[in-house]
Amino acid sequence: MENMFKVVIVGGGSAGWMTAAYLSKALDRGVDIQLVESSNIGTVGVGEATFSTIRLFFEFLGLQEEDWMYHCNASYKLAIRFVDWNAERRHFYHPFQRFDSVEGTSIIEWWLKLKRDSAPFDYSCFSVPAICDAQKSPRFENRHVFDSKVDAYLSSDDPDKALLLEELKIQYPYAYHFDASLIAKFMSEYARKRGVRQVIDDVQEIKLAENGFIHAIRTENHGLIEGDLFIDCTGFRGLLINKVLNEPFISFAESLPCDRAVALQIPSHPESEGMNPYTTATALSSGWVWDIPLFHRTGTGYVYCSAFQSPEAAEQEFRQHLGSRSNGCRANHIKMRIGRNRNSWVKNCVAIGLASGFVEPLESTGIFFIQHGIEQLVNQFPRKTFDEESIKSYNRAVADVIDGVREFLTLHYAASTRNDTAFWKATKTDFLIPPELTERLKLWKKRLPTNRTINPRYHGFEAYSYSCMLLGLGHRPESSSPALDYKDESRALATLEGISRETYRLVQTLPSLHNYLTQRYRQDEGHKLALAVS
Ligand code: FAD
Repeated sequence: MENMFKVVIVGGGSAGWMTAAYLSKALDRGVDIQLVESSNIGTVGVGEATFSTIRLFFEFLGLQEEDWMYHCNASYKLAIRFVDWNAERRHFYHPFQRFDSVEGTSIIEWWLKLKRDSAPFDYSCFSVPAICDAQKSPRFENRHVFDSKVDAYLSSDDPDKALLLEELKIQYPYAYHFDASLIAKFMSEYARKRGVRQVIDDVQEIKLAENGFIHAIRTENHGLIEGDLFIDCTGFRGLLINKVLNEPFISFAESLPCDRAVALQIPSHPESEGMNPYTTATALSSGWVWDIPLFHRTGTGYVYCSAFQSPEAAEQEFRQHLGSRSNGCRANHIKMRIGRNRNSWVKNCVAIGLASGFVEPLESTGIFFIQHGIEQLVNQFPRKTFDEESIKSYNRAVADVIDGVREFLTLHYAASTRNDTAFWKATKTDFLIPPELTERLKLWKKRLPTNRTINPRYHGFEAYSYSCMLLGLGHRPESSSPALDYKDESRALATLEGISRETYRLVQTLPSLHNYLTQRYRQDEGHKLALAVS
């Protein structure tokens, strides 16, 4: 035990247990992992919609959908449906799907040239919006995925398949909705089976060594717990990284001022109403509402800006929006800390999850940040001597991802044509647009984004996402690519026609999401947790 590298994780929310699970799988000898969590301080209790790359996380752990989805009341998510974000109040979808291309040109450029005034971009260029409207499952009854381009990849057993975010070559066509507390519980069982020790106690003091490194944490009932590496997963408190190591937190309030949320868990009635295979983000007077359908209930919340609305007024508007669905449900008011630590790895302490950084959950990136932080930590895993260059590299990668997402989310407000309340007016005048985005927006007034003209540092989003948001929010570039004027359009027209035919076929043949999951969960019920402990 003396020679073991000792990792102490503080915090037992999604961040703490996902980290424990991943490390227990990635580092299988010479490392001792303990996780300390309080039974008095609750978890944030939200965070139920994911990004499609979460699939890599489960694959890395050796988990198939059959192993975990049923236990976490999970469902599928193919897109985000944005409602009331533009002046016309037209909804649009941001799917997990790249645009097809025709002779090297994205189909969205052709749409701009041929259909911009006659058909919505999302329904013309993707099958997903119609699948979502029809509440269909992304898998057929035989479990094949609707997108044949990725189905072969998904079902392949290739042991050399990329399992790291930045190496992923394809766009997974769907993500998941899951119950936040059940996913933490599931990860806890997984990690403990692989040897992670759980300590239920309150951390009362952090002991520093002379060099400023953390030497130990003092708990109420278990005394001192020493470690080599401490992982701060204490949520918005940032107990180790901010409170003890005094690392500054960089606020994003100037560009993303929504700083509060009020959340509710409400019943759902999928037998009569069906089940949406997407997250909905509906704009209200001072922010927006998420709606995340799980298999057994719906998670919903209003993210708003406290400069424009009090918590009481926000809850009232939110309940009005929900109607009788919210009757008898208790509201959870949450203050959000928006921004990131200057550095998320300081000395021998790494912050992951809300303790590291957070932006409003408009694109469901909180859990993605956790996954990315954990991967980077394994990439740069230290020896007891700790190497400054690796720490710098870790901090750069984490900052790039969070800053990139900040830029993408700022675009959601900057490009929106909605302008009817004090908040929406302020999004055009008072929200600070990062200077790099201002430059890019100038270019995108002329032409749609390409992977070369978006933020070039890895942040999880590609040019197709930027195009979806710009077009959906009401923005139209002046023209399509001038080169298309000199090309025969017949192949592009045939491709658009092909998408429409394929969409019709999929809507006719895919099972409803609720039926698919009901049937599958009946089969998965009792499915033993087959965790590879080897
Ligand atoms: P927490 O859940 O707050 O856990 C903190 C842990 O630290 C707890 O176990 C607590 O007991 C422990 N702790 C604290 N102090 C001590 C102490 N002194 N001693 C011992 N233990 C201690 N992400 C998404 O990906 N998708 C979403 O849709 C999404 N929606 C969100 C909506 C809102 C309003 C918010 C605020 C966040 C959302 N997120 C979302 C982010 C997501 O919820 C978090 O990333 C995720 O839940 C991880 O939280 P955490 O584990 O870092 O913190």
